[in-house]
Amino acid sequence: MNSRISRAAVAFVATAGATLGVTVANPSPAAAAMTICYNTSQAPSFASIANQAATIWNNATTNLTLSPNCGSNLRIYQITGGGSYAVRTSLGNGRVYIDTQQAQQYSPLRIMTHEIGHILGLPDNYNGNCAILMSGGSAGTSCTNPYPSTTEANRVSNLFAGTRSAERTSGDTGGAVFRDSWPAAPATVG
Ligand SMILES: [Zn+2]
Repeated sequence: MNSRISRAAVAFVATAGATLGVTVANPSPAAAAMTICYNTSQAPSFASIANQAATIWNNATTNLTLSPNCGSNLRIYQITGGGSYAVRTSLGNGRVYIDTQQAQQYSPLRIMTHEIGHILGLPDNYNGNCAILMSGGSAGTSCTNPYPSTTEANRVSNLFAGTRSAERTSGDTGGAVFRDSWPAAPATVG
């Protein structure tokens, strides 16, 4: 009986901690950061951009590590036209599509970090503020900021708190398709 109560108490504390986003030192292996292996074999023009974006996210967050050449949680593709977008199959897993034409108008690094942001659990936030990564193309072509805001980065860190492995298929943030993530510019009329 006592052990049952104490197990319940531990579960409650763990749940409360996760809800509050509290960082709790945890000696168990379950506390290890989730590794997100990304693969740029289908996006040769953007491999170095992807590496820069991974470094930005790794520096800005805790509980996750983006790493190249270790698997394919995140596949990155380059496409021509149609606008860049992302398909998240589950938190930390999915595909990112970079429109090569769009990457000539907008900062390719900002596009890359933005699209990866969707894979990491963030929605679009088209408020035109260049300081907000998920404002995407709404901040205009002159906006080249590739860094998530503190709020955005902390949101990602909290989503990944407690994730255990890249094999995880269900989580706080499930699958979603961001088809119009970074819409292509409308054709110029006249
Ligand atoms: Zn987007």
